Amino acid sequence: PLSTTETIEPQRICVCVRKRPFNKQEINKKEIDVVSVPGKGALLVHEPKHKVDLTKYLDNQVFHFDYSFDETATNELVYKFTAKPLVQSIFEGGMATCFAYGQTGSGKTHTMGGDFTGKQQNSAKGIYALAAQDVFAYLHHRRYANLDLSAYVSFFEIYNGKVYDLLHKKAKLRVLEDERQQVQVVGLEEVYVTSAEEVIKMIQIGSSCRTSGQTSANANSSRSHAILQIVLRRNDRATTLHGKFSLIDLAGNERGTDVSSNDRSTLVETAEINRSLLALKECIRSLGKNSDHIPFRMSTLTKVLRDSFIGEKSRTCMIAMVSPGMTSCEYTMNTLRYADRVK
Ligand code: ADP
Ligand code: MG
Repeated sequence: PLSTTETIEPQRICVCVRKRPFNKQEINKKEIDVVSVPGKGALLVHEPKHKVDLTKYLDNQVFHFDYSFDETATNELVYKFTAKPLVQSIFEGGMATCFAYGQTGSGKTHTMGGDFTGKQQNSAKGIYALAAQDVFAYLHHRRYANLDLSAYVSFFEIYNGKVYDLLHKKAKLRVLEDERQQVQVVGLEEVYVTSAEEVIKMIQIGSSCRTSGQTSANANSSRSHAILQIVLRRNDRATTLHGKFSLIDLAGNERGTDVSSNDRSTLVETAEINRSLLALKECIRSLGKNSDHIPFRMSTLTKVLRDSFIGEKSRTCMIAMVSPGMTSCEYTMNTLRYADRVK
């Protein structure tokens, strides 16, 4: 497994995979583990070691990513190899994005927002908070003092192609594109923050709004994308944008394979999620190719992240989450195939 002393090569696009541990229910149900992490970047989906009917399941399949994390990895370790190397780029005027991708229940929110297993979400232990801590460490560093920067936070959700402000009672917001293709979320709350603790407070406010908001359509968190942005602005230049870190807890990708539903609203949701995840893959690929053509108009998600897919200094990281069990095998394979094609 990866150790904390491993050196990290900063790169434009980083794709990683994280296997979560079994939970109590899965252990009680004697779920069978079909995922192994045999090396630093490898992930293996294999036949169960016990005797079961295999006709439905796959032969061994091996995938290669930049890093793979097994069930013993902590959020801190995952952070160190994924989002942490991107922090510097926003101080150098770039746009950074970090995505958590995977089926519902695979650990996206645990990884980004923090551990929910206690009574309360431990927001201080998620990638959102860990990134915020590093942003403030850099902000107070001598090296960037002459830039005269301030940090702001916004937190919003995209459900069915509509934007809702998680820091402002889920207010529904419009997305506008001007003639220079600049995209703006009109009226998005941007809270001035001076410490990681203040960011954590916003994460808590936004996360509870995400799951219990009443004003908007009854958006289930597994069907929406949640986007936390840490924005750097120049005080000496009329608060112009300097850099931005977008950390995204994506909607569950399992809907694409759920064809059993006849419910119209579910079908609309499904189509929207599929479209946005497909658009995301295409946009990241064009970032990798340094292409001028970025198909950002394909979805609201890619529209609001448009400036993250352009520019020399933009960096992105995708963490694909997988469940360990045999019953999730099909979803796991879908996730791995998607992640495999991002880069
Ligand atoms: P998702 O957001 O992808 O739907 P969650 O993050 O809510 O999934 O995770 C589902 C459950 O599994 C939660 O109870 C969460 O605490 C637990 N879990 C996920 N990843 C881990 C992990 N790496 N270690 C321990 N528990 C985890
Ligand atoms: Mg979640």
